[in-house]
Amino acid sequence: MELKIRKLEGDEMGFTLSDSNPAFANALRRAAMREVPVMAIDEVEFEVNDSAMYDEILAHRLALIPLSTPAKGYVLPGECGCREGRCPKCSVSLTLKREGPATALSGDLKSTDEEVVPVSGSIPIIKLERGQRLELTAIARLGFGKEHAKWQPGVVAYKYMPVFELNEKACDGCGACVKACPVNIIKLSKGKPKISDITLCTMCKGCAEACPPKAIRIGSDPTKFIFRIDSAGGMPPKQILLKAMGALKGKLDEFSKQVKKL
Ligand SMILES: [Zn+2]
Repeated sequence: MELKIRKLEGDEMGFTLSDSNPAFANALRRAAMREVPVMAIDEVEFEVNDSAMYDEILAHRLALIPLSTPAKGYVLPGECGCREGRCPKCSVSLTLKREGPATALSGDLKSTDEEVVPVSGSIPIIKLERGQRLELTAIARLGFGKEHAKWQPGVVAYKYMPVFELNEKACDGCGACVKACPVNIIKLSKGKPKISDITLCTMCKGCAEACPPKAIRIGSDPTKFIFRIDSAGGMPPKQILLKAMGALKGKLDEFSKQVKKL
């Protein structure tokens, strides 16, 4: 198995996984989206809510604000000795006080831990009219994407590596495929189509359909995968990947323990 980073920039990561199979690629994708714990608001106590929205709707909005998650330092509420999910080891409290006319923003949330804060300060929560007040205390905790989408660290997707096959004898070099390609990755070189970057191919098969002598076949390689990780901003994409691998390894270790007991 081979992993090659194609892009690593801010919250985006692209890599190619080779010499693998669909089961592993999908296990990795699911582990990254479901088994990597991140911080999210899990409980809200409203002291004052004069806004036009119900407490429940505001709580839902608050929960979906991505929070930065430090690599170490917090434990899952279920694994904490406090059992209530309220102590500084397993929770962070964020307070918000705002009076209209104003728009309450994610940046108005004041956290007890500077490492657990909204990744963007400009996410609107609610517009407050003159005299309307909003005062609340939100409790953020670690959780898993498999429990609620608010705990997904980001979006992880993959596609099979596209394969462009050319029947050189049938190809007459007409260039129809060049024009048909929506992502412009086909060029004519010495009268024959050549692909500049196959990873950009969307497998639309436009080139194969446009080719008069039907000399092109578009397929896919089930041993090679093009992955993309888009972090919600709370955790760097490389860390999401490493933690996903750790989660998979943990499951296998547990499985091996069970087998040894047989
Ligand atoms: Zn605790």
